[in-house]
Amino acid sequence: MMASTGGGTPALHGPWNDAQAQLTEAVEHLKCAPGLHEMLAMPRREMQVAVPLRKDDGTTAVFSGYRVQHNFSRGPTKGGLRFSTAVDLNEVRALAMWMTWKCALVDVPYGGAKGGVAIEPRDHTQGELERVTRRYTSEILPIIGPDTDIPAPDIGTDERTMAWIMDTYSVAKGHTVPGVVTGKPISLGGSLGRAQATSRGVAHVALMAMASKGIEAEGATAAVQGFGKVGRGAARLLSEAGVRVIAISDVDGAVFAGDGIDVARLGAHVDREGSVEGFEGAESLDPQALLTLDVDVLVPAAVEGVLTAANARDVQATIVVEGANGPTTQEADAILIDRDVLVVPDILANAGGVIVSYFEWVQSNQAYQWREREVNERLEEKMTAAWRDVVDYAGAQSLTYRQAATALAVRRVLEAHELRGLYP
Ligand code: GLU
Repeated sequence: MMASTGGGTPALHGPWNDAQAQLTEAVEHLKCAPGLHEMLAMPRREMQVAVPLRKDDGTTAVFSGYRVQHNFSRGPTKGGLRFSTAVDLNEVRALAMWMTWKCALVDVPYGGAKGGVAIEPRDHTQGELERVTRRYTSEILPIIGPDTDIPAPDIGTDERTMAWIMDTYSVAKGHTVPGVVTGKPISLGGSLGRAQATSRGVAHVALMAMASKGIEAEGATAAVQGFGKVGRGAARLLSEAGVRVIAISDVDGAVFAGDGIDVARLGAHVDREGSVEGFEGAESLDPQALLTLDVDVLVPAAVEGVLTAANARDVQATIVVEGANGPTTQEADAILIDRDVLVVPDILANAGGVIVSYFEWVQSNQAYQWREREVNERLEEKMTAAWRDVVDYAGAQSLTYRQAATALAVRRVLEAHELRGLYP
């Protein structure tokens, strides 16, 4: 039945398997027709491109690039662009599907998309990354645009990448089109508050989840996996709220301090040294051990598939706040539910980024900049509303927060689909 596994893909595994399993649970809960399930299981549009790069040394290398538009019933598609050697078509599909649910859950008028290039950005110079980004952009140019599909930063990309995409797209169109990407530099029409938005949202839901469990922020403990666009700000905001952040990791290692890590000092160390390793204010820790520390809140804010059947039984946190997309596998999710761990799902926890991306797109299209306070207030409003929707629905239907969030999102997408009708 699952034509959705995609052209010739033999078996589902990894994040695409997790995403499909979550969708299946939601459509079963909603009792929706098999044809509609099939439609949601299959991305609406996929593009795979070869991205040749002329390297600084004169040789040529070729990278695989992807853009997957999962669903556009609710509006243009939206989602990040990832540069990582782990990128493949099924990963991009999963991330695109999760974007559809995320946008629907927090009620921004978008469908979901994701892009990726299978490249390790740390192995390349700025010049090489610029050429890869521009060539990838020109390859996918026919399917992106401010009214069709709007990329944003994700793992391995940043505001500079967005500036190159915007410029390449604008040159092709013959005029400047700021609304084609979000997460741009402020001076090119980026939104105040966008850079911190995902972290702000993560911290906001973490504090709401703690309050719901009767845990006071002051004196509570947290461990944060990842010190990039999401984890770094989340660690800082949690510690500003009084939470003791006792462990933090990045791709190179992890650090631990029982009294709490000085996140600002760690940030300065990382800016200087490029990694959390060697930070003097803490002892070093096995990065895997971070996930099973005895803390109130665990924030996996790196990559998908880190909480698995192998370690979920050892998780001691009361609350898991998914800063990353898809950090918990289906098997791990079942174990955590069984063990009464409160999991705040990715499509809710990390939605702050796309919420402020939406605000940025509105500002770009209207050529008018909002004040940062206004951006942050509206972000908190949307996060709080989505949190309440999920908590209420989960309570009313006896679902986990992930099941409730996915079901609510799928229902909204189906509602839009049904109102529009099927053409022809
Ligand atoms: N890459 C981010 C995410 O996974 C942001 C996407 C966006 O702003 O479009 O949610």
